[in-house]
Amino acid sequence: MSEGVRKGQKSTAARAATTYGAKAYAAASASSPLAGATIRRREPGPTDVQIEILFCGICHSDLHTVRNEWSGFMPTTYPCVPGHEIVGRVTEAGSAATRFKPGDVVGVGCVVDSDHSCRNCRDGLEQFCPGATYTYNSPDRHLGGVTFGGYSESIVVDESFVLRVPGNLDLAGAAPLLCAGITTYSPIRRWGDIKGRKVGVVGLGGLGHMGVKFARAFGARVVVFTTSPAKKADALRLGAHEVILSSDPEEMKAHAGTFDFILDTISADHDINAYINMLGRDGNITLVGAPEKPLGVAAFALLFGRKSVSGSLIGGIRETQEMLDFCGEHGITADVEVIPIRRVNEAYERMLRSDVKYRFSIDMASLKAE
Ligand code: NAP
Ligand code: ZN
Repeated sequence: MSEGVRKGQKSTAARAATTYGAKAYAAASASSPLAGATIRRREPGPTDVQIEILFCGICHSDLHTVRNEWSGFMPTTYPCVPGHEIVGRVTEAGSAATRFKPGDVVGVGCVVDSDHSCRNCRDGLEQFCPGATYTYNSPDRHLGGVTFGGYSESIVVDESFVLRVPGNLDLAGAAPLLCAGITTYSPIRRWGDIKGRKVGVVGLGGLGHMGVKFARAFGARVVVFTTSPAKKADALRLGAHEVILSSDPEEMKAHAGTFDFILDTISADHDINAYINMLGRDGNITLVGAPEKPLGVAAFALLFGRKSVSGSLIGGIRETQEMLDFCGEHGITADVEVIPIRRVNEAYERMLRSDVKYRFSIDMASLKAE
């Protein structure tokens, strides 16, 4: 930990806020493993809620950030405590907090603050606010330094960025909805009515398997593109109608030009043109995966057929609540492998090998016990 963090001192940029120590897992550098640490959290202010974290999903963005793979765009400040798929129980609510009370089961996703006044905030798209505070590795306007995420026993968040988790959902499986869920729900909804349309989901990982569930729930004909032959049976079980092994040129050729919409969730460098070629006229491929290096789009792949490539980033608070309520109504959660926090570094290695079925969810009781 940095000196300031370890001793609970406030940086010069910090406002006067009293703090308490919380157990967490932090990375000290881009090449160090995550290890136990104590971080400072602010005591809840008037509109804050303090949350005891019960489960936190492991998103590939956590790994990109811990290893500083997005250094050109958002460099990582160390120590880094990742985690933005948070489900927990409210332990304290500030004097002016009206939406939550102690005991409520709640979620926190990728954004914990914004300026509340810009056009994006007014449109309910806080993730695009120029003043957005992300859950980790983002300037912390209360304490100085950067924000610390959900690999921790507790977190303090302004209540307007806290979500209600439907009571019927398994909490370990609900945690990934806060990022993987909304990141796939939002572009599918935005595309329009996908009922009966041919929708592809590229990459069957944390995001991809949620994309399959949502596309199926909205009535699409769902086709998964995977590099992993062993995932074929699971893809069908998760709701896909068909599975294409992307390394098989014959399988790819058979589907060329037939898709209305494709959601690309791949975390690493890949040939996006292979998927653009799968689209029919006016088809769209939306990137949610965030590989370190730029992807090379062939102009001619887009020109013939008036196709488009776009991107999508999580979703706003209002839409995230809508997604959680939808999951409550339809009994949708992530398929999770629940792990104790001491196995987080091993989980990262498995995620890199595409060996995750289909999201790791950390049982935070294991951190308390350490
Ligand atoms: P993940 O669980 O690791 O899944 C990624 C999947 O991509 C893998 O399971 C694998 O699927 C496929 N893949 C991996 N490497 C590949 C390669 N070299 N070539 C082809 N396919 C490959 O990761 P995730 O948590 O779903 O995140 C996916 C990406 O989305 C990450 O870059 C993450 O940072 C980003 N993300 C973006 C947002 C957003 O708001 N836009 C939100 C969250 C995450 P198969 O085994 O099926 O091939
Ligand atoms: Zn994420």
